[in-house]
Amino acid sequence: MEPQPLLIYTPRYIQFDYGRGHPLRLYRLKLAYELMKDLNLLSPPVKVEEPQEAPQDILLTFHKPDYLKALEKADQGYPLQGDYGLGTKDNPVFPGVYSFSKLVVGGTWRGSYRALEGRRVFHMGGGMHHAQPGEAEGFCYLNDIVISLSELEKKGLKVLYLDIDAHHCNAVQEAFYHSPQILIVSFHQYDGEIYPGTGALEEMGEGEGKGYNLNLPLDRYTEDETLWWAYQELIPPLLEAFQPDILFTQLGVDGHKDDPLTSLLLTTGFYERFAQDLASRWHGPWIAVGGGGYDLVNVARIWAIIWAYMAGRKIPDQLPESFLRVAIMEGYDGPFIQDLPGWTGIPGHVPPETRKRIKFLANNCPLLK
Ligand SMILES: [Zn+2]
Repeated sequence: MEPQPLLIYTPRYIQFDYGRGHPLRLYRLKLAYELMKDLNLLSPPVKVEEPQEAPQDILLTFHKPDYLKALEKADQGYPLQGDYGLGTKDNPVFPGVYSFSKLVVGGTWRGSYRALEGRRVFHMGGGMHHAQPGEAEGFCYLNDIVISLSELEKKGLKVLYLDIDAHHCNAVQEAFYHSPQILIVSFHQYDGEIYPGTGALEEMGEGEGKGYNLNLPLDRYTEDETLWWAYQELIPPLLEAFQPDILFTQLGVDGHKDDPLTSLLLTTGFYERFAQDLASRWHGPWIAVGGGGYDLVNVARIWAIIWAYMAGRKIPDQLPESFLRVAIMEGYDGPFIQDLPGWTGIPGHVPPETRKRIKFLANNCPLLK
């Protein structure tokens, strides 16, 4: 019997709040959870487990002790203005910021272990790929991804880390730049302006890790067909050649066409094909975490679609009444889960620039030669 798919979630998440006007609203986690529940995507054999706060020794495997002290102070309400990247517009100090961040790490950490039992695990609260060892960055305080990947690396496991967030996974790339054990693939908008500015095609790893860090920079207004083509060129052959022990996906969904922070033009069509393909192709341990996504209704819709494929369920095309009421208040005029088809550009049209980039990666990655 296949081990049960596992969703990691706690209603505690929405007790925390980045504050008025901040683009990251934790309420999206509840919205996604409720949608999954209403779509019957959480009934047995699916299991739901709550994350626990990660203990300090785990945090110290990546983060600096003085930064953790500062976070602890921030948690207790000490004002910090810019020290350690805290108290800025991006990384506000809010009540419980440390507890929240420890929950995030705990969920992904535990989720990785549960995945190693042969499961598919999704921890929507995780995905903080910008957090630095001694600094908060890009809405991220503690790096649940690097901490969990390091643990898997220490166990001698090979991991394929695939990051589809519209922003480059700067801190993850940096942490494993020399490691051939953690194969990193990132698809992200890259236009000389968007945060964090790293993630160039040529950044391919160093030393033993050379060729094991694959960045696919995407131009503004990249559409479904282009990314889907690139995905097919890279991921199936990499899975085949690398034979990872575990798949680790960061599922930031801020590449959606309506996301307020980015300029990619993806629709649910891309995310659905992506999830369908991975779910049918990969049958080993799979830990998925969340990430960016700043249009609440879209985040909930897309994560529900991806989870349906991970859990081997069918998705109806209509949103449930209960969800629709909230969606309408958030400006979504529904009633469908998927975006209407036919929105994207010419099927099969892939810009020559993208083809060139894939060719460059293929020429410089030992697994694609
Ligand atoms: Zn992002």
